[in-house]
Amino acid sequence: MNTYCCTKFGIFHQKDPEKEISIRIIKLPLKMMNTGIQGDNPFRVIITSGYKVNSEEINYMIIKHCPFCGIKLESCYNSMDFINESSEVFIPPDSTAGL
Ligand SMILES: [Zn+2]
Repeated sequence: MNTYCCTKFGIFHQKDPEKEISIRIIKLPLKMMNTGIQGDNPFRVIITSGYKVNSEEINYMIIKHCPFCGIKLESCYNSMDFINESSEVFIPPDSTAGL
């Protein structure tokens, strides 16, 4: 069972991203990790204002700390259990965007 850092984070993690602000967790593809610019942790926590998958325009921001309790996110969300979106929604496969 998943254990969130705090209740509010869990609520936003489970929201429908097509309808409202939500938190998404992705895992970067291995080939991006191999570029050496991404660090050792392939997981990224993203806050987004909402999107439709395959849409060209997605507003989002990578966050490093929980906006509610302040914990360092990589210490908490570092397993496949929390992934709730494909990395390709935010990062095209041929991109090396600074994530
Ligand atoms: Zn939290």
